Formats: sequence, structure tokens, C-alpha cells
Amino acid sequence: RTVFLNGEYLPETEAKVSIFDRAFLMADGVYEVTSVLGGKLIDFDGHARRLQRSLDELQMPAPCSMDALLEIHRELVRLNGIEDGLVYLQVTRGAPGDRDFTWPDPETCPPTLVLFTQNKPGLADSPAAKAGIKVISIEDIRWHRRDIKTTQLLYPSMGKMMAKKAGADDAWMIEDGFVTEGTSNNAYIIKGNKIITRALSNDILHGITRAAVLRFAQEAQMEVEERNFTIDEAKEADEAFISSASMFVMPVVEIDGVTLGDGTPGTRALRLREIYLDESRKAAI
Ligand code: PLP
Repeated sequence: RTVFLNGEYLPETEAKVSIFDRAFLMADGVYEVTSVLGGKLIDFDGHARRLQRSLDELQMPAPCSMDALLEIHRELVRLNGIEDGLVYLQVTRGAPGDRDFTWPDPETCPPTLVLFTQNKPGLADSPAAKAGIKVISIEDIRWHRRDIKTTQLLYPSMGKMMAKKAGADDAWMIEDGFVTEGTSNNAYIIKGNKIITRALSNDILHGITRAAVLRFAQEAQMEVEERNFTIDEAKEADEAFISSASMFVMPVVEIDGVTLGDGTPGTRALRLREIYLDESRKAAI
């Protein structure tokens, strides 16, 4: 696999980063994951805009222009022959010559830019979408700037491990009695014709897929209500689903062992998945 590191396309075995890189020592980095369908990027502009926002919030300089980033994405997809898969991008505050809590001067310590691809043939035909996924609920103990897409992913990893141990696929996190989001996705419930999902704030990541899904839902005459919901309300909902760049729209069929409906993916969630995939493929670049 060919990867990109600081201006160069390299075999993955030759891409090396300093042990003083602040992402390695302090999780001082931000990232994006963009999906590729039919060799094209899904919602690149949304991911580029959110990357810029994450960088701004952490006063981290952009490693290059967003146009240059698009070209790197495309070149890696081409070099690695990706039809369906993902492009992972990470920008870190670089590698000062020593460990220190204070941020280095960007003039003397440029950011580290890494991109690699993940080949996922048939990414959009996932068997999980036909069966639906099971989630458990766990407490949300993450920091309070979840709107910044940082590489501090230890608690989401723990959450996924807790889910796995419980025989589930993912965990929904709960704060002050309300669901915030999934470990790596936004969470939704459906009641009648109404899609309910938490409103945007610093409590959740502003999902790029979320923005598209809510737009398509409204265009399809579904009602959208952005508000908090509890896990008990979710267990009594008609349907539930998650969204993310790599899972698109994924139906949820079980929450904390409680089966939703007849235990198969709901018709509205499946319809939204279809619309999302159709429209995103059309707009892919
Ligand atoms: N919420 C969290 C915590 C995430 O990590 C992610 C994606 O990685 C999302 C939501 C979904 O965001 P997007 O649709 O932009 O992939």
C-alpha cells in the first residue's frame, strides 16, 4: 500500500514519524475519514470544512490547502486502486525535539500530515445493514469538546470493547440521562414519521453524514426533531439507526438487549440508507 507522509507518496513500510510527534505523546492531532464508492470521494467538501474547523479550534496550522488535500486523496485512491474503501487523514501538531506540554511554535515545528487508504470491497453492501446492529449503553465520560475530531480515541475504543464483550456491535453513550452519540457515529431514533437526534453542540461530533441524512430525510417528507432523547425512549422507539462516513446509515435492532419492533431493520432507516447512498454516489467527486 502506498501512503502519504509530509509531501511524499511512500510504501507504508517506509513512512516513519518521530517518537516526539505530539500525536504519539499527547493525542495532539485531528483526523478525518472519507469514504470512497466507485473510486470517488463521498462528501469531501464536508470533511475538508470540518477538518479546517478542528484545526482552528486547536490553533493548529493547516498543512496545505484543502484543494491540495483533495488531490492527495485522489492520488492515493488511484495509486492503491481503491474502488470501495476509506481514506484516513491525520494532521498532528508535529514533532518538536522534546516532550513539553506547551505547544511548539508552528514556524519551527510544522504539522505532520499522514494519509492512507483502506480497501473495503463492497463497503456499501454490508451484511450488517441487512441484519441491523445491536448496541449497549455506557456512560459518556469523554472530555467536553467532542465537536473537535481529535485522535484521543481511547474511551471510544473501550466502549467498542465493552460492546463486544456484551455480544453487541457498538455502544451509545449517555450523559445526564440522555444519549449523546455512538462511539464513532451519530445516534437516531424514529417514532412514526419523525426522526429524532440530539442537536449539535460541543457534546457531540458534528457528523458530515448526519448533515446529509437530515437533509435527505426532510426532502423525503420525514419530520426531523433535533432534541435529546433517553435510552428508555430509544428502547420504545419504532426504529433506530446510526450514521457515519464508513457505515453510512446503519439500522439498530437491539438496545441493551431490548429488541426494537420485530428485530429486523426498520423500513424508514433502510429507505434513508438507500437515499443516502444513491444521492452521495451521484455527488461523489
Ligand atoms: N460521532 C463520533 C464520535 C464519531 O467518531 C464519528 C465518526 O467518526 C461520527 C459521530 C460520525 O461522523 P461522520 O458522519 O462525519 O463520519
